[in-house]
Amino acid sequence: MSGQAYDSNNIFGKILRGEIPCHRVYEDEDTLAFMDVMPQSPGHLLVVPKAPSRNILDADPAVLSKVIPVVQKLARAAKEAFEADGITVIQFNEPAAGQTVYHLHFHVVPRYEGQPLKPHSGQMENNDVLAANAEKIIGELGN
Ligand code: AMP
Repeated sequence: MSGQAYDSNNIFGKILRGEIPCHRVYEDEDTLAFMDVMPQSPGHLLVVPKAPSRNILDADPAVLSKVIPVVQKLARAAKEAFEADGITVIQFNEPAAGQTVYHLHFHVVPRYEGQPLKPHSGQMENNDVLAANAEKIIGELGN
């Protein structure tokens, strides 16, 4: 395969290994989901397959087939938990496309009629707000 190799020394690799913390909302054998620290809308979360790949271009289709149902589950939960009008799912591949962290991930972003998104990788959210938002999603998943 062409393109750059996966480098496990990326921030999501570190989160997956437990080397740095995250506001976790969901985990199973293959997938971890946690709050984005620079949310583009309240409730913005990331769904990350545990298997290493840089992005969708080098991912194993078997990994994609496991992660997409989790994206759906979290999209439904975030829509309910944040009383959103819609959900945007975003996934960037390589710097030219806006990717900044090189471990495959899907953004799940609650949306509201007429409200534009805040900038990508913009402002850090307060930890307490992220923790409270994570609890809302966890609560919804429990329902
Ligand atoms: P992308 O451009 O798709 O690679 O987006 C990476 C996303 O990761 C951005 O939305 C960042 O706000 C987010 N991010 C960066 N560092 C962290 C972190 N330590 N925990 C959670 N989200 C992060």
